[in-house]
Amino acid sequence: MVKKQLTGIIINPKENGNVELVQNGLVEFDSETGKILKVGKSKEKSKKELAKEEFIIIPGLVDLHSHIPQLPGVAKNADELLPWLKNHIFPLEVKFSDLEYAARVSKFFFTEAISLGTTTIVAYASVHKEATDVAFEVAKEMGIRAFIGKVMMDRDLKRYPEELPLMSRNIKDSLDLAKKWHNSNNGMLQYIFSPRFAASCTMKLLEKTAAIAKEGDFFIQTHLAENQSEVKFIKSLFERERHRVPTNTHIFKKSDILGEKTLLAHCLYLSTPELLLIQESGSKIIHCPTSNIFLQSGFMPLRRYESYDIPIGFGTDVAGGYSLSMFNCMRDAIETTKIVNLINDNRPQPFLTPQEAFWKATLGGAKILNLDSKIGSIEIGKEADLVVIKPEPHFKFYNNTDDVESILENLIYLPHTYKIVNVFIAGKDRFIKNTN
Ligand SMILES: [Zn+2]
Repeated sequence: MVKKQLTGIIINPKENGNVELVQNGLVEFDSETGKILKVGKSKEKSKKELAKEEFIIIPGLVDLHSHIPQLPGVAKNADELLPWLKNHIFPLEVKFSDLEYAARVSKFFFTEAISLGTTTIVAYASVHKEATDVAFEVAKEMGIRAFIGKVMMDRDLKRYPEELPLMSRNIKDSLDLAKKWHNSNNGMLQYIFSPRFAASCTMKLLEKTAAIAKEGDFFIQTHLAENQSEVKFIKSLFERERHRVPTNTHIFKKSDILGEKTLLAHCLYLSTPELLLIQESGSKIIHCPTSNIFLQSGFMPLRRYESYDIPIGFGTDVAGGYSLSMFNCMRDAIETTKIVNLINDNRPQPFLTPQEAFWKATLGGAKILNLDSKIGSIEIGKEADLVVIKPEPHFKFYNNTDDVESILENLIYLPHTYKIVNVFIAGKDRFIKNTN
């Protein structure tokens, strides 16, 4: 046993949805087993010593949606979703077939995520089996907790710049990768089946993917109702193929993609019948507010969706989102609830609070991945996924640091007032300052 102690202000999400603040806190963990041994108050300190208290300790952040090969393409302002994919993203993803390049980009991606406090990430690789294998290899080396999947696409709609694998090859490659990587590296790495979106998958591919993922009890990730042109395009595409479905969510119902381990990213344009289908199936919605604004996709009505029994988590959706920072994502989620209010000014709803946003980016995310018995908050027996934050001297000028809401406001809105200095994943310090 190698005991390690951290002291500081602990910001900790709780089961009841609250976020607790422990002044003068202490976390002790075993860096060999990675387990948390103690959480509580440090020895009593004088008021003066408390005033000098340096660190803030939070649980590792959980990013539920991102794309590894897209990171070098962030901040490409120009288009809406479909032309953006064709003009910027597909050419970038094709480059990922070069394995040396895939290794470099993967290293950059995980380094960046960890340096921003993300300890668990759900990510798409590219359509290439070998490059996805490389991404897993790098994730293992860097010790991050990750769900990674090869992008499944078996039709290109004249947009994808290289030949796509057939349905059977998509399935075989995904199964081979799942066999090699699922639950590897002490359960830190998991395979996730990743049909890109209905536009790039035949009904056969969706059906087959759902069957094998459910048989093996795997998670599935895909995109749904991200952009109005995309929604119309997919609907007409499946209608032309004589799949009579009233909405795009029914494509995933018909193919059995919906389910308790299915993560549906975006979900901006859902009707009541679609929300009911998602609720019945137990699927989760992954809100990607930064990407929704950046690509002019729209604003997800989070409060309306919360009236259904559907868990909602957060994703950065790099490179639709321009940053792997979950604090940036929390801020855009809060701001989006205000924008939705401005649009529907006859029915204003309370905007998302910093505590709610932080809970969703930590324990809420862990619950969506069925990992809340292991991670998501700082509790005895859980794994030590911990982020240590050093406030700059001017941090306190902005807000009162005795109050959890104020500290979270600083972390979410004022990134220039602090630095992340250590990131522990399963008890090991994995922080590397990104110098790429
Ligand atoms: Zn995405």
